[in-house]
Amino acid sequence: MPVSTGEELLLFILNSTPLVNGDSQDLLADPTGAPPALRRFGGTGSPEELEAVRAVRPLLQQAVRGDIPADALASALTGVHRTPRLTATGLTWTLVVASDRRLAVQAVLAWAEMRESAPGRLRPCANDECRLFLVDRSRANTARWCSMATCGNRLKARRHYRRSVSPDA
Ligand SMILES: [Zn+2]
Repeated sequence: MPVSTGEELLLFILNSTPLVNGDSQDLLADPTGAPPALRRFGGTGSPEELEAVRAVRPLLQQAVRGDIPADALASALTGVHRTPRLTATGLTWTLVVASDRRLAVQAVLAWAEMRESAPGRLRPCANDECRLFLVDRSRANTARWCSMATCGNRLKARRHYRRSVSPDA
């Protein structure tokens, strides 16, 4: 499954509120770190852009968790257009939207497209103490953790510990 830039952007936004030692962090609240991060995705890095991305973020997170219906995000796409252009190599679509809204809109579109093209592949990490999301691109579609190195091993270690402390459990 090819990875689109929209997907990477979407995952970046979804995963920008990690729990660190039990405390909720906001990577987009960092005024020096956030604008360059958004510019890496082709954004403007402006305060308005940051605001638009942060406004759409909790909706995307709740929608992926299944806590709100998809159309709760409908207003994020108000006034957005795509224009087709035929080139020698084929058809391309250009997003027509105010530059400060572009990243927020691209993330919502990427999420909506993934719902269609790869249903169930984007999901929250199975670790209750983790706030991250993952995209499962494996054939079996059985990935449960955002990262085997962190959440996967942590849960395995905990289960192992429980088993060794109380063998009956
Ligand atoms: Zn995790």
